[in-house]
Amino acid sequence: MRLLRLELLPPSVVGCHMPRRPSRNLMRALILFLSLLAPLLTSCGEEEDSRVWLKGDLHLHSDHSHDARDNPLSALVPLAESLGMDYFVITDHDNHVNGKLTTWDDPHYRSDAMVLLYGVEWTTGRGHANFFGAERFEHERLYALRESSGEQVAEEAARQSLHFSINHPIGKDLWEYGFDHHFDSIEIWNALFLAPNRNRDAIALWESLVMEQGRRIPIRGGSDCHHQEGGEAEIFNIGNPTTWVYARDRSGEAVLNALGRGNASISYAPTAERLELWADADGDGKYELLMGDTIESVPESLAFDLRVEGTHPGDSYRVLIIKDGETLLEETVRAVQPRLTLTFRDSPNGRTFYRAELRAEPPLRHLQTTLPEAYGDMIALTNPIYVGYP
Ligand SMILES: [Zn+2]
Ligand SMILES: [Zn+2]
Repeated sequence: MRLLRLELLPPSVVGCHMPRRPSRNLMRALILFLSLLAPLLTSCGEEEDSRVWLKGDLHLHSDHSHDARDNPLSALVPLAESLGMDYFVITDHDNHVNGKLTTWDDPHYRSDAMVLLYGVEWTTGRGHANFFGAERFEHERLYALRESSGEQVAEEAARQSLHFSINHPIGKDLWEYGFDHHFDSIEIWNALFLAPNRNRDAIALWESLVMEQGRRIPIRGGSDCHHQEGGEAEIFNIGNPTTWVYARDRSGEAVLNALGRGNASISYAPTAERLELWADADGDGKYELLMGDTIESVPESLAFDLRVEGTHPGDSYRVLIIKDGETLLEETVRAVQPRLTLTFRDSPNGRTFYRAELRAEPPLRHLQTTLPEAYGDMIALTNPIYVGYP
């Protein structure tokens, strides 16, 4: 593996970045510089980008699922609104109602504060998948394809312009339709990072698919929240984890478009730190490639910019950059501002993908639980930037 360098970028953009291990004096100077330039920082490399970060949860059950009777829609919608969710979707089990969904007609399925998507968990004996639409769709046509092939399901989803997302591919309900057919995203972070699904194994599976198939596969999270009462509700709830999408506007279509492009990252809670991974493909000092994007021709080297929003000054974080499934860089960084930026440069070896993880112990202040260890140390992770991928 090629060793990576962390470096200060040219003076024109250095104000947005921190060196690998800044000396105390340099740190003070940077803090001063950063605080003076604070109003300018958000525009660094993002001129004329009017997109917005929207957060939501992409896997939730309400009392329209038989195993979620204590999760009434009348309580879920206000709870999601109180958590500041920008978009929201309920993905009830279709097999509990023989494919005739009732969720969308529930008078409580409405919100003025959030973009509501139309969703369902296609729940079969050979695996589960979520379908998402910006509008109502004909789910019975998908329900009828339970014994069909993955290709046929993908064709029907495409015919209805739906987002087809495989759920928890490894764990209690394995995905047995294979991975050769088209799908729009895969849930690699279901509920708590450590349990009940094997999310780390799901990530390894996804990375191997990306490498073996030479195919971009967007990733997402989903809480799979079923309860507001009992033990499970003590540990996690809506937004554990939260999926952030960078959408052109506040509409269901824009949310699904960003999700389908992989312009998204996942955080363990709606109030947790959020990651953005950007790259400068043409060497002009502007970071125009966002996680999920690809640059088809392979440049000699690329500059990357990892931004962490919502850091807690004084807290230490471990930042990991992962290249083709292997750790390229691991840095411990102490936050001095509510935003942290790490820049680095690397030479891709042909077809390559880069992604980032942020690790630390989740602090209790963000959780509705007394069991933070159930979360593991995964704070957030990104979709990859792809190099040499179509
Ligand atoms: Zn499921
Ligand atoms: Zn589910």
